[in-house]
Amino acid sequence: MGPHNAFYKDEPIRELDLALTRQGFKLIYPQDANDLLKLIEHNPRICGIIFDWDEYSLELCSEIHLLNEYLPLYAFINTHSSFDVSLNEMRMALWFFEYALDAAEEIAQRIRQYTDEYIDTITPPLTKALFTYVKEGKYTFCTPGHMAGTAFQKSPVGSLFYDFFGGNALKADVSISVTELGSLLDHTGPHLEAEEYIARTFGAEQSYMVTNGTSTSNKIVGMYAAPAGSTVLIDRNCHKSLTHLLMMSNIVPIWLKPTRNALGILGGIPKREFTRESIALKVAQTENASWPVHAVITNSTYDGLLYNTQYIKETLDVPSIHFDSAWVPYTNFHPIYQGKSGMSGDRMPGKVFYETQSTHKLLAAFSQASMIHIKGDYDEQTFNEAYMMHTTTSPNYPIVASIETAAAMLRGNPGRRLINRSVERALHFRREVQRLREESEGWFFDIWQPDGIDEAECWPIQPGDEAWHGFTHADRDHMYLDPIKVTILTPGMSELGDMAAEGIPAALVAKFLDQRGVVVEKTGPYNLLFLFSIGIDKTKAMSLLRGLTEFKRAFDLNLRVKNMLPDLYAEDPDFYRNMRIQTLAAGIHNMIRQHDLPRLMLQAFDTLPEMKMTPHQAFQQQVTGNVETVSIDQLIGRVSANMILPYPPGVPLVMPGEMITEASRAVLDFLLMLCTIGEHYPGFETDIHGATLTEEGRYLVRVLKEQPSI
Ligand SMILES: *Cc1c(COP(=O)(O)O)cnc(C)c1O
Repeated sequence: MGPHNAFYKDEPIRELDLALTRQGFKLIYPQDANDLLKLIEHNPRICGIIFDWDEYSLELCSEIHLLNEYLPLYAFINTHSSFDVSLNEMRMALWFFEYALDAAEEIAQRIRQYTDEYIDTITPPLTKALFTYVKEGKYTFCTPGHMAGTAFQKSPVGSLFYDFFGGNALKADVSISVTELGSLLDHTGPHLEAEEYIARTFGAEQSYMVTNGTSTSNKIVGMYAAPAGSTVLIDRNCHKSLTHLLMMSNIVPIWLKPTRNALGILGGIPKREFTRESIALKVAQTENASWPVHAVITNSTYDGLLYNTQYIKETLDVPSIHFDSAWVPYTNFHPIYQGKSGMSGDRMPGKVFYETQSTHKLLAAFSQASMIHIKGDYDEQTFNEAYMMHTTTSPNYPIVASIETAAAMLRGNPGRRLINRSVERALHFRREVQRLREESEGWFFDIWQPDGIDEAECWPIQPGDEAWHGFTHADRDHMYLDPIKVTILTPGMSELGDMAAEGIPAALVAKFLDQRGVVVEKTGPYNLLFLFSIGIDKTKAMSLLRGLTEFKRAFDLNLRVKNMLPDLYAEDPDFYRNMRIQTLAAGIHNMIRQHDLPRLMLQAFDTLPEMKMTPHQAFQQQVTGNVETVSIDQLIGRVSANMILPYPPGVPLVMPGEMITEASRAVLDFLLMLCTIGEHYPGFETDIHGATLTEEGRYLVRVLKEQPSI
């Protein structure tokens, strides 16, 4: 680090610069220590720091250490430099060189060696083995047939494909028969090392890498934990992969019923549902049910609420608890999540805990990247049968390596900073929206959060605080809002479900943002969810903020739909020809008011449809052909063949084998209301999984035949 004023220092550094450049290094000269720290923070490719020991010494070292404790530091000293003895104890990657002429070549070589060691330290085992294998460029005579990309280059369109993805992506796609890489299915070699590395990183006793998403991780865990004929407790707010588990495995589900507030935000499963009394009652009321052997809980909920997992682990009297944490693979890396994840806390005698995470959803990994973490005793060999049952025998190594690299990225101080930055960015965004709201003339967007958000924490949903969270019977110290899941509220409905005279349905805002390249994670009636994952940088946060303010401006100017939402206009130019945005907003808002959506939604999720048979039995009926298609309004009194899940809110309303009866009529009313909005306003059709929308705008569903054919 320079510039130095003493000539005896300048010349050796100039020589070193040349020698290092010849080695292929690029050198940057920051102005001062502050400048240096900023550089390290913003440039992860920096692989070493050279500095003058007399000028900077230990203090600078500890500051660099806080940013990246693995980064090699090279201190230049002269014969009079003083040393601090405690240095050795700090276990820093710190090397000393003397200012001397004609030593540059040797120093550069040593720096090359230490840099290689640094790269070796931060690269996890399987990824390292894969990089090495690809660099060696061996000829293989096995799969995949593209042979490190060669086959693509023998065809015109194949060459386009090759050029688009690049050589290494294809070279790294190697066959499972490459023995030096070990085996994903047998857990050997670098694959085993990767699993152990991941387990250490995530605070698990054992971890598995899964290449077909958490959809598959969930099935693996369920297949192992719940034998045929057994009873399992399942969060009604479960991902469809768990419904599919129930269709595959002949088990009896007992539902844990989450609360929700009027905004449609899920409050999670209340404490009472976890008690022995509540479970005993449901077991008694369910045909063929016995005491559950396994439980599945979605943590966090889709709206970003995390549980006090310690309470669940202690209270829930089942030997095996699975936290589906697809959305929160980062909870082990920031203190605010302590006690709120599947792997937090110690093992408990007689219980085993599973946590499944979609590495790809909020960390940096390829799609399909997923992990299973385990704490507690289980039978590894049997578990592995369930694992292999769902795993391809030709895993994609780039996906596997990306799972491991995502873990490596979270290690140490760089990992902590990465997660901390997304928390801070979300906090900053939350404050900005609040500020704009205070400064704004007339209406502005609100954020679903408590009033004072001074520091980073997961905000508790406490009883008595209904004013902000809208949950009327919240349990104390049970659920917490993750700051990086940001729910923006549009005008029209209060947290407690009171409908205002005027309102702006969130779907309009979502469509507006979408046209500006900002994709919303989830849209409720009057709320929009945004995820501040580690890939969200300042520019993305800014463009969201700008999108919101521009929406307000355009809305207040009452622009034509044609100009403000051209994509929507294109859906039905006749319908939207002269319509202005405020008319459209008022039209949908009034429709929601007329149907009293908040009440309807609460009721729809309050009384579950009746389980006529297990999802497994219903699927068996379906595959034997005892199934027919009916219009959705004929659903009452019929056994649904599939899961019906309107999106939003993205929570199953009807499970396979269930029947809507008079008691649960609200379920159908809610579905029909969603359909009505789409019928009246082109472009606002609800996506209902488990139903098909015909050309004429009718929703069709599959039900079991009333008279099964023999
Ligand atoms: C997305 C999701 C899954 C499935 O994860 P994939 O990695 O997409 O297969 C499972 N559970 C929950 C709660 C999810 O949100």
